[in-house]
Amino acid sequence: MPELPEVEVSRMGISPHLIGEKIAKLTFRTPKLRWDIPVELKKLEGQVVRNITRRAKYLLIETDAGSAIVHLGMSGSLRVLDAEIAPGKHDHVDLKLANGKVLRYNDPRRFGAWLWSEDGHHSVLENAGPEPLTDEFNAEYIAAKAINKKVAVKQFIMDNKVVVGVGNIYANESLFSAGIHPTKAAGQLTERQWQLLVVEIKQVLDTAIKQGGTTLKDFAQADGKPGYFAQELQVYGKKGEPCPQCAGPIEELKIGQRNTFFCNQCQKK
Ligand SMILES: [Zn+2]
Repeated sequence: MPELPEVEVSRMGISPHLIGEKIAKLTFRTPKLRWDIPVELKKLEGQVVRNITRRAKYLLIETDAGSAIVHLGMSGSLRVLDAEIAPGKHDHVDLKLANGKVLRYNDPRRFGAWLWSEDGHHSVLENAGPEPLTDEFNAEYIAAKAINKKVAVKQFIMDNKVVVGVGNIYANESLFSAGIHPTKAAGQLTERQWQLLVVEIKQVLDTAIKQGGTTLKDFAQADGKPGYFAQELQVYGKKGEPCPQCAGPIEELKIGQRNTFFCNQCQKK
C-alpha cells in the first residue's frame, strides 16, 4: 500500500511535468473508484496546473478553477507518459496535457480516489492531525494527546487524528529505533520516550522519501522505477531473523489487526 513517503515521492516525481502546463482533457474509464468520480473534475479542462501539494496521503492538483484530490488507495500509481501510448487494463484516469503528455492513473484494486474541491477543502481532509515532518508534530504535542490513553502506542501513532501518514511499516521501524515496545500503553510513555519516538518517526519517513519510497509490489515511482527503502528495514517483515542490535529473534504479533514486528529485548514495555 502506498504510504506517506510513496505519495510524497509521487508528488515530487510528477510535479515538474505538470506545474505550469495546461490541462487539455480528462478521461475516466470507470465511473467509480472507492467513491464515484465527480463530473465537476471536468472543470479542470482548459486550466493550468498551478501547484501539486500533499495533505496526509492525498495529492492536490491545484488550478484556478479548483483542485483534483487524488488518493492512491491500496494499489494506485501515477505516471507521466506520452499521450499516444495506449492505456492498459487498469489505467482508469487520464489527465491529458496540451503539450502531448498524459498523467495516467493506474489502480488494479480500485480503492483509490479522484475527488473535486473548489477551495482546497474537502470532508476527506478534515479532522486530520498534523503532518509528521512539520514542527507542529513534536514531543510536547503528542505527549499531551496521549495523557491517560490506554491504547497501544503503535496504534496511537497510526491514528490519523493524532498524526497523519505514519503507516504500518514506519510505525514498526520507528518504535524499534526508539527502543519502545509496540504494545506499551500510549499514556505510559515518558517524556524522553516521546522525544526519541518523534525524532525516529521523522527520520524514518525522511529517509524513505529520500530513497524513493519503500519497494512494495504495487508501487512504482512516477518514472516507473521502484523505490529502494526496503533494504533499510530493520524489523518489518523480519519475523525469526536476528535483531540488528542484539541478534535475538524478531517477533511478530497483531495489534489492531496489523502485523507488528519487534525485539522483546531491545524494546521496553
Ligand atoms: Zn534486539
